Amino acid sequence: MPMPVRTPSHLIVAALFLLCAGCASTVVDSSPAHDRVRVTISQRAQIELYDSLIPVPPDSVMALYNECPPDEFHKRYRQLTEFVTALIDSFNQTVGSSYAIDTLHISHSIENFAEAGQSGKTLFISSSYFMLFNNRGILRSLLTHEFGHVHYRMLDSASLGHAARLWDRLKETALFYLFRDGEYSGNARFGGHPEDHPSELFASAYNLVRNRPEELHVRFTYVSSVHKPLLQEVIALVAD
Ligand SMILES: [Zn+2]
Repeated sequence: MPMPVRTPSHLIVAALFLLCAGCASTVVDSSPAHDRVRVTISQRAQIELYDSLIPVPPDSVMALYNECPPDEFHKRYRQLTEFVTALIDSFNQTVGSSYAIDTLHISHSIENFAEAGQSGKTLFISSSYFMLFNNRGILRSLLTHEFGHVHYRMLDSASLGHAARLWDRLKETALFYLFRDGEYSGNARFGGHPEDHPSELFASAYNLVRNRPEELHVRFTYVSSVHKPLLQEVIALVAD
């Protein structure tokens, strides 16, 4: 199956733009702590839909963006950014040079809130991941997922066919939920979207096997033994 030029984010926002189309106008948050925050209704509505997923309320997200423009961001998150680039260098060692990521683009636009993806050799990460979580484990999971997409693109046609068949069987058995990798949101019910495409299943499983193996094992404990061989086939696919 063709890969999209840009990998969908872990938390899809494209649909939210459609919901909000045509409703943009400027409002001012007048609460004392956020005097300088100006947001559009559509921007706030976009964040509000993540309310149950993020560790701070939508207005605080707006304040984070306003208080942390790019120059301040690079001062405040210099060490975390260096951790991310070092991790990318490390992951690059696991892929061929033609697949290596050579540019990290941190998007400071609120329109890209919670987005991460790839285009060519560039990896995009929304600054919101740094500002909301400021956590190496979460960024490691995010990067592992993204490199899962790289490894998926490296599969030969036989393995791609195998991945597609496993994805079909998980769809038939309604077992996608086992492979949602939601630790970056702190809420596995909403993280990841393995049901979207075999590449998303691969990337989420690739991340869980490397960063949450015990949790994955426990999730499988409560699944009927009839399905265990299928689950093990998914693990084997991403473990290679
Ligand atoms: Zn993905």
